[in-house]
Amino acid sequence: VLILTMLFFWLLSILLSYLLSRWNMRPILKSWQQQQDFVANAAHELRTPLTIIQSKMELLLTKPNEKIISQMEPIALSLAETRRLNQLTRDLLMLARSDSNMTQITRQPTNTAEFLKQVIAPYSEIAASQDKMFTAQIDLNTQQMIDQKRIHQLLVILLDNALKYTQTGDQVEFKAYAHGNHWQVEVADTGIGIAPENRQAIFERFYREDKSRSRQTGGNGLGLAIAKWIIDSHQGTVKVVTNDPHGSRFIVSFPIEHIKKEHH
Ligand code: ADP
Repeated sequence: VLILTMLFFWLLSILLSYLLSRWNMRPILKSWQQQQDFVANAAHELRTPLTIIQSKMELLLTKPNEKIISQMEPIALSLAETRRLNQLTRDLLMLARSDSNMTQITRQPTNTAEFLKQVIAPYSEIAASQDKMFTAQIDLNTQQMIDQKRIHQLLVILLDNALKYTQTGDQVEFKAYAHGNHWQVEVADTGIGIAPENRQAIFERFYREDKSRSRQTGGNGLGLAIAKWIIDSHQGTVKVVTNDPHGSRFIVSFPIEHIKKEHH
């Protein structure tokens, strides 16, 4: 009888905690979903007017009359801030949509090496224009299913950061290679580096190592949060280590997604 009574209470407590958790979680989950929808809708609504303002200002500056030339500095500053706002809105929209599972991964058959070459093509020139060196080594000839848009976005975030957090004379290195049944990408720089205790936090939303410095470099602290979402949604992993002799090295690893028969 004692054992049966204990069993009964044990089962009752499990049932009660289950019911309580459902009862409590429901409204929380619902309001979380509502918040995500709200952010996604707000960001979406902001995008159109911001894009219009940005393009009109750009137009003003391409054919400036005398009055505009005399006001060049405040106009250029406003344009720079509008661009920042536009980027922030785009990033918020992307994250809010990914939270609401509104962003889908769309993979297509891809020649990985060719695709990566295209992605990194502009970077030699961008680096050279900033008196930095860019080297790339692509040692991978895998045909596989890739969401090109998202992987492109991820690599741009990592490469832009590598350039953002380096100075004249520094180096940025890109590597891609096969590793067992995974493919890996490394983006390394000889820049300012990231303190070991912050290497988790940099992937959080709005986190910046040094807020004043990041403000100068024009970031919003959302880039790596988006990068992390893209990596997770591809079942990948990311590791940040110290580059030799200094700077940071991002190592991203993805399982190779073989092309199924019907795509041939
Ligand atoms: P941000 O827009 O500020 O660059 P990110 O989410 O892309 O935002 O990065 C978050 C923070 O991580 C940055 O503010 C910076 O402090 C740090 N960080 C990212 N990449 C690098 C890098 N290659 N070298 C040094 N610090 C970096």
